[in-house]
Amino acid sequence: MKNKQDSTKTMVLCNEFQFDAAHSLPNYKGKCKNLHGHTYKIRVCVKGHVNEEGFVIDFSELKNIVTKKVLDILDHTYLNDIIKQPTAENTAIWIWVQLKDSLPLHEIWVWETPTSFVIFRGEK
Ligand SMILES: [Zn+2]
Repeated sequence: MKNKQDSTKTMVLCNEFQFDAAHSLPNYKGKCKNLHGHTYKIRVCVKGHVNEEGFVIDFSELKNIVTKKVLDILDHTYLNDIIKQPTAENTAIWIWVQLKDSLPLHEIWVWETPTSFVIFRGEK
């Protein structure tokens, strides 16, 4: 069993973040048609094997990557300038694309309100 990765030590590790942004959904027949803002909450989950030091990934490394590639770009912006038709769904896809080359992604969660959210598990 040595050198073989132990599946009992595979784990999903998540970190949650928040950012504030405005958006509008011009084709939507409802309140989100008009310009307004949300405090978005996101959860970034990675999956991997626990290494010899006992980590899947260092939480601070995950935080640094998400801050640089997502939060610094989206916080206090008009999302429509960055993401086409910025629904929670399209925002989750955008975040996945931003992070997929830097992290072993498992899931991206995006809350548009405390009770409305999407979960994205990749493009397949
Ligand atoms: Zn909205």
